[in-house]
Amino acid sequence: MTVPPSGRTRLRRLPEKAAADLASLHAVLDAARVAHVAFVHDGHPVNVPVACAREGDRLLLHGSTGSRLFRTLADGAAVCATVTLLDGMVLARSAFESSMHYRSAMVFGVATVVEDKEAALRAMSEAWMPGRWETLRAPRAKELAATLVLTLPLDEWSVKISDGDPDDPPEDLDEPVWAGVLPIVSSYGEARPAPDLRGDPPLPAYVASWTP
Ligand SMILES: Cc1cc2nc3c(=O)[nH]c(=O)nc-3n(C[C@H](O)[C@H](O)[C@H](O)COP(=O)(O)OP(=O)(O)OC[C@H]3O[C@@H](n4cnc5c(N)ncnc54)[C@H](O)[C@@H]3O)c2cc1C
Repeated sequence: MTVPPSGRTRLRRLPEKAAADLASLHAVLDAARVAHVAFVHDGHPVNVPVACAREGDRLLLHGSTGSRLFRTLADGAAVCATVTLLDGMVLARSAFESSMHYRSAMVFGVATVVEDKEAALRAMSEAWMPGRWETLRAPRAKELAATLVLTLPLDEWSVKISDGDPDDPPEDLDEPVWAGVLPIVSSYGEARPAPDLRGDPPLPAYVASWTP
């Protein structure tokens, strides 16, 4: 499904890199673990990185009830949440033409407080650590009381994807320097048991299916 951009989500700079389909938005948000959430506080812009997870047509964020970010958002501040995935370095024949491969998404709106915190926390956990929630103890009442869960609707958004080859002008093509793309691959490393792990439980099998 393609969604027409709003006045503020239409890419003006390099509009050919825009992706207007919902599937692209979902793919970028689902591959992200962190959103940078920008808002104005006391007249100043701030931009706070927090964990994020998409559930259907909303972006979920969670944090402390004492957090400035979460209190300000819960009070109805306008926000712009951005996620960025860095996919590679584009090594052109000049520094000017060199760039990066990326997928990024910006979501504009106003967040609202989620009433069913436990269900939302479960959805976030399953987005980041599929299969694990069922194996964990249930959240305690005081943990839930100390947590705010917010949802940002995916109503007004943009996606920008940069994935091309070096775009050197013809006069640079004879420069005696290597040019091309160096992909950036992100993956988990070797699991390290907690030093206080008791009972020697094995690494859960579901971990093998996770990607960062
Ligand atoms: C990893 C990375 C590195 C980058 N490095 C540079 C750099 O060094 N210099 C540079 O000029 N630009 C860089 N960009 C691109 C940058 O994010 C902006 O797209 C660009 O600078 C144009 O900004 P603007 O405000 O003029 O965009 P406009 O096109 O005027 O923005 C209009 C609307 O388009 C949408 N939009 C704009 N940019 C993005 C985006 N990245 N993702 C999703 N939606 C977007 C928003 O909804 C925005 O409100 C980089 C992007 C990424 C992800």
